[in-house]
Amino acid sequence: KKVIFSGIKPSGDLTLGNYLGAIKNWVKLQDEYESYFCVVDLHAITVRQEPALLRKRTLEILAIYIASGIDPEKNTLFIQSHVPAHCEAAWLLNCFTYMGELSRMTQYKDKAKKLGESISAGLFNYPVLMAADILLYNTDLVPVGKDQKQHLELARDIAIRFNNLYSPTFKVPEAYIPERAAKIMDLQDPSKKMSKSEDNPNGYILIMDSPDVIRKKISKAVTDTIGIVRYSDEQPGIKNLINILSAITNLTPEEIERKYQGCGYAQFKADVAQAIIDELTPIQNKVKELLEDKLYLESIYKKGAEKANYIANRTLRKMQRKIGFILK
Ligand code: ATP
Ligand code: MG
Repeated sequence: KKVIFSGIKPSGDLTLGNYLGAIKNWVKLQDEYESYFCVVDLHAITVRQEPALLRKRTLEILAIYIASGIDPEKNTLFIQSHVPAHCEAAWLLNCFTYMGELSRMTQYKDKAKKLGESISAGLFNYPVLMAADILLYNTDLVPVGKDQKQHLELARDIAIRFNNLYSPTFKVPEAYIPERAAKIMDLQDPSKKMSKSEDNPNGYILIMDSPDVIRKKISKAVTDTIGIVRYSDEQPGIKNLINILSAITNLTPEEIERKYQGCGYAQFKADVAQAIIDELTPIQNKVKELLEDKLYLESIYKKGAEKANYIANRTLRKMQRKIGFILK
């Protein structure tokens, strides 16, 4: 079986973008692949996190994975910091990555702009840790949103570089980017990505938002004065809502345009909100149930860490041997 690796960082509450861009596709792919789904807490601390909240969110993300339909019996679900090989491999790979490559990462540039003075070295190095995450598991496919494409290309470059310097060590992974949900946009500013670390809560829908909040946020979503439900770059707000509806219902944008011909934005928005509510409500109920059972969640991440440690350490040893370290 081919291998999948992906993860989400507990740097905020998960959004509809995380769900449609990542998790929903993992659910679809899980039967075909051997999958590792990680809560990447080491990545979260590249920006300041409140300790109690970080702990809470880490567990909640694990619950969301399971509640969304990822089968913990068939897949490896684990917490990144439980597998020390990620940090060790990241150090090694740091020595095969150039400053110039990292400074070209657009996500770093965007986040650094927002942070001003207090940019941690971790934020700069983040893509190297991500490369380590992926390469340790001999990953074939990385299902992520479009915003991660550049990081994945860097991971490929690092893998190829290492393989060429020594001998074939890493599988060179491919990105798997969903068609319609590749980049869910901010509801208040459809020129930027919906993000969990965004300040304005009206810009995003959280997986755990209540039906009332979802209706309110969708009805406030920025649109335009054209008044036609059309899939066009001239109408980025409407296009985004069509993408959301399409990713949930599997209707194509053309089918949605046809369905809403002659229909005003209010009705269209109401239907989009309802589709989101119908999709998320069962997941929310399951998440709440799972969070009541901490022992069960603990058993899942402990079992996951065992498997992940075994595979990751094997790759790490291979790296160490090729580099020229003495193995004990
Ligand atoms: P942050 O703002 O802290 O970076 P984030 O919402 O971007 O948070 P990540 O943990 O960085 O979340 O990303 C987790 C996964 O969700 C990645 O695969 C990423 O590509 C995907 N993703 C994030 N936002 C979106 C979005 N708006 N549309 C589609 N996919 C997304
Ligand atoms: Mg992100």
